[in-house]
Amino acid sequence: MNVLVINCGSSSLKYQLIDSDSEKVLAKGLCERIGLDGRLVYQKAGLEKEITEASMPTHKEAIQLVLQALTNEKTGAIASLEEVSAIGHRVVHGGEKFASSAVITDEMIAAVEDCNDLAPLHNPANLIGIRVCAELMPGVPQVGVFDTAFHQTMPPKAYLYGLPIEYYKNYQVRRYGFHGTSHSFVSKRAVEFLGLDRDNSKVIVCHLGNGSSISAVVNGKCVDTTMGLTPLEGVVMGTRSGSIDPAIIEYIAKKENLDIAGVMNVLNKKSGLQGMSGVSSDMRDLEEAIEAGNEDAKNAVDVLCYGIAKYVGGYVAAMNGVDAIIFTAGIGENDANVRRTVCSYLGYLGAELDEEANSARGEDRVISTPDSKVKIAVIPTNEELAICRDTVALVK
Ligand code: AMP
Repeated sequence: MNVLVINCGSSSLKYQLIDSDSEKVLAKGLCERIGLDGRLVYQKAGLEKEITEASMPTHKEAIQLVLQALTNEKTGAIASLEEVSAIGHRVVHGGEKFASSAVITDEMIAAVEDCNDLAPLHNPANLIGIRVCAELMPGVPQVGVFDTAFHQTMPPKAYLYGLPIEYYKNYQVRRYGFHGTSHSFVSKRAVEFLGLDRDNSKVIVCHLGNGSSISAVVNGKCVDTTMGLTPLEGVVMGTRSGSIDPAIIEYIAKKENLDIAGVMNVLNKKSGLQGMSGVSSDMRDLEEAIEAGNEDAKNAVDVLCYGIAKYVGGYVAAMNGVDAIIFTAGIGENDANVRRTVCSYLGYLGAELDEEANSARGEDRVISTPDSKVKIAVIPTNEELAICRDTVALVK
């Protein structure tokens, strides 16, 4: 069956139409600048990208344009919308209400709305996508796939913060974790690809992209992860600071004459690799700057790699061992230098990187030596395919 996968942001929307039997992408693209001017990017498999400037005052017009492109006589991937059997939506925050993906019903929408305070920028946008699809394609089953769901298996010792317990009980302040769809997909694939015993396996997934998070997965279940109540916690990211001393917030607010929103904006959008290097949030630009002798860029990447190695060490302790360490997402899949530097801290585990395999490119691949006591691998993530699989499993 064909599944339309939608990831709706506040002013953008990414989509893929996937044939769930072959798991091939039939068409994909995105809508940008929704509410401003509007631009549709559409690409049918095997054809060039088409870019159309088109008015998109709201998400409704954006999704209408996507559906028109998918069914266009010349370049469409399908003849009519009847060929779309289900729609899978990425939903950012499911709070404690969703430990797995769920078919979208009125009750389910109300439960997602209850989580809006936890992700005020993302959840409302996700819900707009769900409502518009229900209006434009009535009767087509829809499924919500949550970024937080995979991490719901964490025990209280991993998800509680050292705060007054009322904040958890009254306001649900706890660690939730994000990128769950990716951590779930990659950890499952790691077990399969590396021939581990699913019921006796300890895997660490390093999802290193523009946003980065690490998870510890025992027997297929998440036991800890680095992101917290929000995606700001954990390792240094493209523009997010990752974990810092919370007292810095007050200190900087006073020095820079900022309110809380102003400091949070700095921590989310002006920190991380971007803020530390003063160059860019993109690792490719940082590598270039390092080549040119930029000390701040070098320190930024060093802080990232050192931070990753410390979390990995912490998770080895939490799990009392590790069978495999997996790198995924933009940096994890592409940056041999980051992988090499992180692995240089892991000698105490008997982990040994195969330099040649680490420098090669390709799909799923082992990058540790045959003698390494811990398997190290690169496994490309595919969140859209994971959403498609969950959607099919729930609507079939
Ligand atoms: P993602 O959020 O998974 O799409 O990852 C995006 C990030 O991956 C970019 O901001 C870059 O920092 C990084 N990235 C992408 N391609 C490369 C590459 N070839 N080498 C190093 N870093 C890369």
